[in-house]
Amino acid sequence: MQSTLAIIKPEILKKGLSGKIISIIEEHGFRISAMKMVHLTKDQAGRFYHVHRGKFFFEELTQYMSSGPIIVMVLSGDNVIERWRSLMGATDPSKAKEGTIRKLYGTDIQRNAVHGSDAPETAAFEISFFFSKMEIENGS
Ligand code: GDP
Repeated sequence: MQSTLAIIKPEILKKGLSGKIISIIEEHGFRISAMKMVHLTKDQAGRFYHVHRGKFFFEELTQYMSSGPIIVMVLSGDNVIERWRSLMGATDPSKAKEGTIRKLYGTDIQRNAVHGSDAPETAAFEISFFFSKMEIENGS
């Protein structure tokens, strides 16, 4: 059993489309083990995206991710990291496959609707960034 961190990004909440994304997640059989809404400060967004510090889009990305509330979730199941990234689609929505969330709901390479951890180590860091063990179903 694996867990991953999923985020519904600010522009989706602003557009009132978060329920659509949650429905897609449930329809695809993902187990939601934890979920909450948070509004990050720019500094917190920078700590979450620390691997991108120094990149040309870091400033814009942290500004955007702190521009409004987001919904953070822990998804759990076999191979969930890869399965969730596959349902998300490519980073750039214009290059994402038909039927993926980013193709359906992404606006551009930055405002691409959702986030998903890319490896088990990243997932562990990202889940613990937002959730205590007590907030996650089964403590897993
Ligand atoms: P992901 O794993 O598919 O989310 O992609 P990355 O880890 O490479 O990038 C993290 C996030 O930074 C993306 O989801 C986008 O929101 C943003 N991002 C990535 N590349 C760019 C870019 O070239 N320009 C801008 N403005 N944002 C980007």
